[in-house]
Amino acid sequence: MTPTQPNLEDIFMKTIGVIGLGNMGRGMALSLQRGGYEVVGTDASSETRASLAAEGVTVVDTVAEVMAKVELVVLSLPTAAIVSEVVAGKGGIIENAKKGVIVVDTSTSHPDTTRALAKQLHAVGMRMMDAPVSGGPKGAITGTMAMVIGASDEDFAEAEPVLKAMSAKRVHIGGVGAGHVAKIANNLFTASHLLVAGEVTRMAAAAGVPVERLLQGINAGSGRSFVTEHSFPTWVMNGKFDSGFTMKLMRKDVRLSQELTSAVGLDLPLTKRVAELWAESSQTIGDAEDFNRIVELGTRESKAAA
Ligand code: NAD
Repeated sequence: MTPTQPNLEDIFMKTIGVIGLGNMGRGMALSLQRGGYEVVGTDASSETRASLAAEGVTVVDTVAEVMAKVELVVLSLPTAAIVSEVVAGKGGIIENAKKGVIVVDTSTSHPDTTRALAKQLHAVGMRMMDAPVSGGPKGAITGTMAMVIGASDEDFAEAEPVLKAMSAKRVHIGGVGAGHVAKIANNLFTASHLLVAGEVTRMAAAAGVPVERLLQGINAGSGRSFVTEHSFPTWVMNGKFDSGFTMKLMRKDVRLSQELTSAVGLDLPLTKRVAELWAESSQTIGDAEDFNRIVELGTRESKAAA
């Protein structure tokens, strides 16, 4: 008789932690539950913890309580500094280390931070991979996000069933940190395309061509991008501006791109100007506003003058 192969998924990784239950983490927690995993989540905000508990997620108050229960832990946090604090700070993951557990950072973070934390986690018998995401809160809650992944082949293979419950596409870019490099590059494109599309649509409108007709033409031609095909019809032209991704987070991502450019010793004048424009936008476009509002840069009064 051929021995039945154990289904590894049945043995490992039944319980997944999610730290950071905001716009993205909430959807990831719910997608993981739908995928058959037990989820234990936590967040710094008691309001957010209560609202996720009301949606049926097991919510605890501390990272220690998460670590006590899980085989893999997903991070969805605002910045690299907060990721460092949650992993290596007081009461964090390393203080509550559990051998073999994989930490999957889905935040948009700095690759140097990721690599440094991976070393610290390795020293306590744990592993780290970066799996930053695209697709917004809608992609998180429907489990259709795209992930760019930095991990060893072994860790990627082991974590993939869990990642599949949250994403439709996974691209294994390279070793730890490579996912964060790819994500920073991706968002630098989006941040640049939005600025260009804002200026180009204004130019065409001033020259007498309505934006709807212009975009039909562009989207049939070689100038098209995700911004012209998706962002303008979905969030800009209907005035909704409800993508779920804020100016504050995109300004952070653009800053990360400049930190990375400096760290690798390059001087890139075009993307430097893009970063200057995103930084200047804080004078007229608030942190909590939708990031697509950047297309209005130069058309609004400064907040001080308003
Ligand atoms: P968010 O601000 O909605 O959620 C972050 C959550 O982390 C908040 O609920 C906050 O309370 C919690 N938090 C902060 N500090 C914490 C700590 N020390 N311990 C535990 N929880 C803490 O942000 P988001 O939009 O969900 O984005 C999360 C990450 O995903 C960011 O790195 C962002 O750049 C990235 N991202 C967001 C989107 C999007 O469309 N929103 C898309 C792709 C990637």
